[in-house]
Amino acid sequence: MRPAEGPGPPQASCTVDLDAIRENVAALRSRAGAAEVMAVVKADGYGHGLVPAAGAALDGGARSLGVSVLAEAFALRAAGVTVPVFAWLAAPGADFRRAIAENVDVAAYSVDQLAEISAAAAASGAPAAVHLKVDTGMWRGGATRDGWPGLVAAAHRAERDGLVEVAGVWSHLACADEPGHPGTARQLAAFAEAVEVARRAGLRPRQCHIANSAATLTLPESRFDLVRPGLAIYGLNPLDPDHDVPGLRLRPAMTLAARVAQTKRAPAGVGVSYGHRYTTTRPTTLAVVPLGYADGVPRAASERGRVLLSGRTYPVAGRVCMDQFMIDVNDAAVARGDAVVLYGPGDRGEPTALDWAHAAGTIAYEIVTRVGPRVPRIYLGERTRG
Ligand SMILES: *Cc1c(COP(=O)(O)O)cnc(C)c1O
Repeated sequence: MRPAEGPGPPQASCTVDLDAIRENVAALRSRAGAAEVMAVVKADGYGHGLVPAAGAALDGGARSLGVSVLAEAFALRAAGVTVPVFAWLAAPGADFRRAIAENVDVAAYSVDQLAEISAAAAASGAPAAVHLKVDTGMWRGGATRDGWPGLVAAAHRAERDGLVEVAGVWSHLACADEPGHPGTARQLAAFAEAVEVARRAGLRPRQCHIANSAATLTLPESRFDLVRPGLAIYGLNPLDPDHDVPGLRLRPAMTLAARVAQTKRAPAGVGVSYGHRYTTTRPTTLAVVPLGYADGVPRAASERGRVLLSGRTYPVAGRVCMDQFMIDVNDAAVARGDAVVLYGPGDRGEPTALDWAHAAGTIAYEIVTRVGPRVPRIYLGERTRG
């Protein structure tokens, strides 16, 4: 549900700075060397809006778009996006015929899945563009080292039969956000070997790719032909905060804000919100903020997440409710309707999505992807497409 546009400013808003996304992609592109940038816009563009995020990323120099499920790829096509789109996660029964018809690249993780894609191609009368996935050590999707030669051989046969075109060979890194983790070097070596196995078997994949945001930023040897940054294009750094990337300037694109719904004076000693986990210690002013866990404000950040209000930050007082939470502003002059910023780029003193992630014991990915559909997205910056 999206709220109807009212006469006044919205009571809560998720503002997305498209110029920031464009500039972040340009910054990543300048670090990707000769590799092409595939901007990852899965999960509604990490909560920023699928089509606007895609348009801004293409304006910033991305050449293609990566999504998880086919529905996301079809939504891009329906919006008129014509650049290459790769959708990499499908359960049996996925609409591969439509993927072929709409020129969406798909992934094959196993011989069975390749057979399903090939059957769709046979029924369509046109080949499917397939990226073969090798599991180099994350133990998520893809062929294991033992299964890889079999997948490669099946793909070679399907290519000869005109059913698939092997567009790429790819994998995913488990620990790139911890630079120096020994698992990453092992995965890169396993990937190079898998590419070699594919070439020896007669495949000529155009694009080999393994790098996510963290690898794009820290591991030149992981770039191959294409990099797949997601989080960084939205201006959030996936690396451990103590790991500095010299010269890197990313700007968080999302600002989550609301307007105070009510203020009231409370005496000392009253319990606030569910469970009365917070108790006032003096006569004070409480402000009600109309955003809750249904809007993506993590309940786990109760009493720890902070907000900016009239130039000061305050922690959440008591538990985050489904639709709202309270803050204790002491004697500050706060009125109904005043702006409260939960997080943003951080340059006006507001917390960042990373601060909220720490407060909730999670990662910034989870903070931005969970902003609910009830919060209207407001777009800033030049919108040349989408
Ligand atoms: C989500 C995802 C990415 C992007 O990861 P970031 O850490 O956000 O850069 C790249 N590749 C695959 C397969 C993914 O699932």
